[in-house]
Amino acid sequence: MKDFDTICAIATALGEGGIAIIRVSGDKALDIVSKIFKAHSGQDIKSMKSYTMKYGHIYDIDNEELIDEVIISFMKGPKSFTAEDTVEINCHGGVVSTNKVLESVIKAGARLAEPGEFTKRAFLNGRIDLSQAEAVMDIIKAKTDLAMKSALMQSTGHLSTQINKQREYMLNILALVEFAVDFTEDDEDVDPSIPIKVAESLEKSIGEMNVLLRGADEGKLIREGLSLAIVGKPNVGKSSLLNALLREKRAIVTDIAGTTRDVIEEYINLDGIPVKVIDTAGIRETEDVVEKIGVERSKEKLEEADLVLLVLDTSRELDQEDKDIIESVKDKKCILILNKIDLEWKIEEDILGSFENVIKISAKEEIGLDELKQTIKDLFFNGKIDTESLIISNSRHKQALYRALENAENALVRVKNNEYLDLISIYVTASLRALGEITGSELEEDLVNKIFSDFCVGK
Ligand code: GDP
Repeated sequence: MKDFDTICAIATALGEGGIAIIRVSGDKALDIVSKIFKAHSGQDIKSMKSYTMKYGHIYDIDNEELIDEVIISFMKGPKSFTAEDTVEINCHGGVVSTNKVLESVIKAGARLAEPGEFTKRAFLNGRIDLSQAEAVMDIIKAKTDLAMKSALMQSTGHLSTQINKQREYMLNILALVEFAVDFTEDDEDVDPSIPIKVAESLEKSIGEMNVLLRGADEGKLIREGLSLAIVGKPNVGKSSLLNALLREKRAIVTDIAGTTRDVIEEYINLDGIPVKVIDTAGIRETEDVVEKIGVERSKEKLEEADLVLLVLDTSRELDQEDKDIIESVKDKKCILILNKIDLEWKIEEDILGSFENVIKISAKEEIGLDELKQTIKDLFFNGKIDTESLIISNSRHKQALYRALENAENALVRVKNNEYLDLISIYVTASLRALGEITGSELEEDLVNKIFSDFCVGK
């Protein structure tokens, strides 16, 4: 166990609520809280048993003024989230009461925790590895049941197990190489079975890393959401389509940060896939300056979109505006939505040939929505979503695994060319290091700090 100071933070969301929890972690946790807490029973909490609670009051350390009525719980390290002694103070969930209790804990000797510092301690104290720590944040931010399930699997060490297995392979290869190099005068005399064994191990590992990476793009979509832009000229039924999709599946989150007047972002739950709908406020050319900003932004958003739904109105003939919009999405992954099929068909059929995916719907009558959803799943998930294969969902992990794979492939090519074994060990070591970045066993301290700084306070 490392030696750290005792930290504290509000662990619950700030606002009015039934209760709020202030978390105190470190070897002085109980000592600090005992200075400001008086148990109703009169008992001294320093002798409190782990995993028990005490009812009482918090007082100001300087003037003994009553601050709040609370219940405290104690979890003795290493059996706590941080693996350190942890006290949680359940106080009244008001903004003022919570902050006053927090202040008194600080006055009694604890330091205010940085974002993610509790989870970072769990990592630094060796209770969890880095990928598990990152999963804690993914659980909090999960937007669908499926995203939650995948994050939960990662938090219990599903990914770590796979990565550690690959590390084992690389370590065994290094041991073989070192053995061969140490016991032979020159490379000519190397036991011929060694390069064969090295190649076999590398091939096995490369195969397994490829399997892990195969699900990475899908994993990322489940974690971060598929961004979907609905485009088309005014009145073709874009909002009606969005509303129909929203109505069917409950909306999950409204992204408040970054929301602008022109571009609204909302998530819908499409059978477990979080779909972030970018409502582009029309990408047509405009003279209006204010609206032009919106149009520019819409074009940017279009760039970001993983998928575009291009909506046309089948009850009208195509005009130049439709054609311009069709032109603007021609390089994107796109589904052509022919809307208003409940009305008389007037649109020319010849346009349809240039689209691979065409779906006829009526947003108003809610016809064709299931087919639309199935098509989206076909495009990104080969039709069905398999949680077991969603092991890699984080871009950082994916990049590191790619590097591990590339180095392993390089090593294999060299073994097959009968190159010097110590040269091969350079690539194997690089692969090992890249794998270690995922679990955090090989990562620069400032990178670790950067990862945790994205966490929320109190976690
Ligand atoms: P937007 O400007 O592209 O967002 O279009 P809206 O969703 O606001 O729809 C424009 C008009 O078309 C509204 O009056 C809708 O009720 C109507 N509309 C949308 N979808 C359909 C449809 O499938 N069938 C019919 N008959 N009308 C529709």
